[in-house]
Amino acid sequence: MIPKLESFRRIVIKIGSSLLVDKRGLKADWLDSLAADLAGLAAGRRDLLVVSSGAIALGRRVLDLPSGPLKLEESQAAAAVGQIALARAWSETLQRHGFTAGQILLTLGDTEERRRYLNARSTIGTLLKLGAIPVINENDTVATSEIRYGDNDRLAARVATMMGADLLVLLSDIDGLYTAPPAQDPNATLIPVVERITAEIEGMAGAAGSELSRGGMQTKVEAGKIAVASGTAMVIASGKDAHPIRRIAEGGRCTWFLAEASPVAARKTWIAGRLEKRGSLTIDDGAVKALRSGKSLLPAGVKRVEGRFQRGDAVAILGPAGDEIGRGLVAYDAGDAERLAGRNSREIEKLLGFAGRAEMIHRDDMVLRGE
Ligand code: GLU
Repeated sequence: MIPKLESFRRIVIKIGSSLLVDKRGLKADWLDSLAADLAGLAAGRRDLLVVSSGAIALGRRVLDLPSGPLKLEESQAAAAVGQIALARAWSETLQRHGFTAGQILLTLGDTEERRRYLNARSTIGTLLKLGAIPVINENDTVATSEIRYGDNDRLAARVATMMGADLLVLLSDIDGLYTAPPAQDPNATLIPVVERITAEIEGMAGAAGSELSRGGMQTKVEAGKIAVASGTAMVIASGKDAHPIRRIAEGGRCTWFLAEASPVAARKTWIAGRLEKRGSLTIDDGAVKALRSGKSLLPAGVKRVEGRFQRGDAVAILGPAGDEIGRGLVAYDAGDAERLAGRNSREIEKLLGFAGRAEMIHRDDMVLRGE
């Protein structure tokens, strides 16, 4: 069954470089049509996030760099120049449609290392709460080959899963997944729905990619694997014409990848099963009751701290009798957690010397037994 765009609540939209930038520079009219589409989506009380490529493509035009592959330091310089122009275009365009834009530049560690992940997630989450649209790109000026994603398809998939988005939209110059690369095989046909990413589906992706953008169909299918396993559906559609989101809503050509579970269920499986425990927090009866009624774990409810964990690590939550009642990602290092145990959240700044989070383990980062 083909999903309906209106059924999604938190949507990440990734824009490929070739849509935003052509030989003359930034395609302002196209961007305006996209912003109008976003306004339509946001009217339904949806959270929207943008992952925008185009910094390098834009910067190389401004700096008049020759066509063909760039050296790493040249693409970093191009990104430094292009990102300013790109951010300004987004900010001004979104503003005209009633939005506030917030720029976020990420490197690989921000989504892969758990302590930095918590930071990135809470900043982006706060922007959403404040009603702004995060406009995200890779921090290309500092990302060297070892620490970079390299393509925004996978970056967007990481962002989508990190933020518990239920849909990732990949807009590029390709309108979907074909049974074979269409440039090479005239009989290739578009696949409207991928229920599971099998080896056969991966085989259809081929390589490809144009001069402006890094990702071909292969990185899009890679992005799909990241997304669907975490409960995020994905759609690949062409953004070549104006109003690309409206086209998807109206049933235009595209390929849907269905999610394996809901984002919440997938996250719970991840926390409960796949992470190694680094320690434990023993909590009192009052805190057990609070957690069971859906609340976060506050420092006041913690009686004992064991283990040498760091902020973002997984720890066991033990009841007063030592029985494991759940697991979660802890917001403080072990030393700080010990200092805060049993204390009121208002005392955090006084005790630690910085204003930390009010929760020891946030509800969203916790799974209780039997959940
Ligand atoms: N981060 C790159 C840029 O903004 C784009 C990477 C990609 O094309 O996927 O230029």
